[in-house]
Amino acid sequence: MIAAATVLIVLFILWDAFRPKARPLDSEPPVVARVADSAPAVPPTAPPVAQPVPPPTTTSQGTSVTAGREPTYFDLLARSETRRRIRSSGTTTYLGEMLAQSDDSMLRRWENRTTNPIRVYFASTYAANFKPEFLSAIKTAFGQWTNAGVPVRFDFGADSSNAEVTVKWRIQFEIERTGQTDVTWDENGNIQSAVITLATFDPKGRPMESGDIRVVAMHEVGHMLGLDHSKDSTDIMFPTAKVRDLSDRDVRTVMLLYQLTPGSLR
Ligand SMILES: [Zn+2]
Repeated sequence: MIAAATVLIVLFILWDAFRPKARPLDSEPPVVARVADSAPAVPPTAPPVAQPVPPPTTTSQGTSVTAGREPTYFDLLARSETRRRIRSSGTTTYLGEMLAQSDDSMLRRWENRTTNPIRVYFASTYAANFKPEFLSAIKTAFGQWTNAGVPVRFDFGADSSNAEVTVKWRIQFEIERTGQTDVTWDENGNIQSAVITLATFDPKGRPMESGDIRVVAMHEVGHMLGLDHSKDSTDIMFPTAKVRDLSDRDVRTVMLLYQLTPGSLR
């Protein structure tokens, strides 16, 4: 028994000494513009008028706060187990395609925040067409993710000084987009903060309605939670959201993400 254990320890030491060295993270440039959305379309819940509902577009950008260290043998073992779990989820999630499309093969998410809610701050605004009811639409969007089982909670009473997530407004984006999320994470893939920017008018100048704000916010909250785009137009995380609610795949993807250890999978 002792001899077997000794052999194992020696093997680990040998493996650690001779395994290929991973590229140091800190020599890599920070990640920018993870994804960029093009022209989107959100179908109306119930078309009230003949005029089509403004097509919200969304995007997410990321900035990584990198330091970086050499992965240990056990890190590599854990990563391979994580990759196995993602592979075995097959097409029931889009975590695999998310990673395949990413530049850094990094899983990003918040730590479990069920007892210590993530502090959310709603910036005040004078943007034209802003309506107070937009705020409840956004809170509903946050709630749809937490109701699905994501192990995070939100405290909407934060102020600008202690916020981890800021929701702010602009009248319009210059490009085809109605929302944007900028996420910051550390070298372990733990998301530290996010800024969600929403437009009160769509790119064609049509005023956004509460229902559209909820859909765009739901997509942006998905980015804020660490999701990237899905290739399936029936998912809310399709680049140009075509549906108005979370799909089973959205839910399974985020739930799997929050069961896995974040960080690099290289
Ligand atoms: Zn997006």
